[in-house]
Amino acid sequence: MEKEMHLGGDYKIIPATSLADGLSVQVLPDIYCKTIQIVNIAFISDSQNTKEFVLVDAGMPGSAKEIIAAVQETFGEGARPQAIFLTHGHFDHVGAILDLITHWQVPVYAHNEELPFLQGNKSYPEPDPSVEGGMIAKLSGMFPNEPVDLGNHVQQLPLDGTVPFLKEWKWHHTPGHTPGHVSFFRERDRALIAGDAFVTVKQEYLYKVLIQEQEISGPPRYFTPDWLQAEASVQKINQLHPAVAVTGHGLPMAGDQLKEGLISLVENFQEIAVPDKGKYADAYNQKM
Ligand SMILES: [Zn+2]
Ligand SMILES: [Zn+2]
Repeated sequence: MEKEMHLGGDYKIIPATSLADGLSVQVLPDIYCKTIQIVNIAFISDSQNTKEFVLVDAGMPGSAKEIIAAVQETFGEGARPQAIFLTHGHFDHVGAILDLITHWQVPVYAHNEELPFLQGNKSYPEPDPSVEGGMIAKLSGMFPNEPVDLGNHVQQLPLDGTVPFLKEWKWHHTPGHTPGHVSFFRERDRALIAGDAFVTVKQEYLYKVLIQEQEISGPPRYFTPDWLQAEASVQKINQLHPAVAVTGHGLPMAGDQLKEGLISLVENFQEIAVPDKGKYADAYNQKM
């Protein structure tokens, strides 16, 4: 018998928004990015000739209807993805996942080390509202950190780095923000789906989130417990030389702005990304 699925016990609707809310951007002929309040989801199809596609991440709690409508708008009535891939299991990336699984009956994939947070076995560390930043950092104390339980609806990504249904794509382990965080990369046009390994808006500041001012930033501070790993992950991504990136938060970025922003983030990681204080920054700051 199939196990019942559960959202995290502390999941709730979060009253945060941005001017990009509802915005849908066709980033490349086969990559679409859609903003759900303050977080992005992506649709990827593997070729321009097919209607087949996958979904990356699953938006905010309560957003399933909006995601299903966006899928139909983009791929036609009754369209459904072949699978859902999760960059990680934070509440704002799995908010609608239960409803989507129930509606589409599709498999979900995530990194092995993220599975405890997706099968109800382990909570994420509490958000740290004491990191410097604006209103969103302060609000983060109310962000859910308990795990969803997808039971046997979620499975681990293939160990060889391949991505089911997407022949040209590879997944890369980019931990730090969470233990099993992954990013997706296609060598041919150096397209990157980064998740929260880095983002293109200072996610801690309500004003910047609201207007979506573009600026490469490290992973959201209040939710990142391992800054040494987070730094190594940004270095790894920079070495892929992405030409275009969809990040978990902020608008998609491409070209020199992306290239220079990533180099600057790598070279000034402590200054740009790591909080000066806060319980998760100490291990990093003491070592530097
Ligand atoms: Zn996150
Ligand atoms: Zn996020």
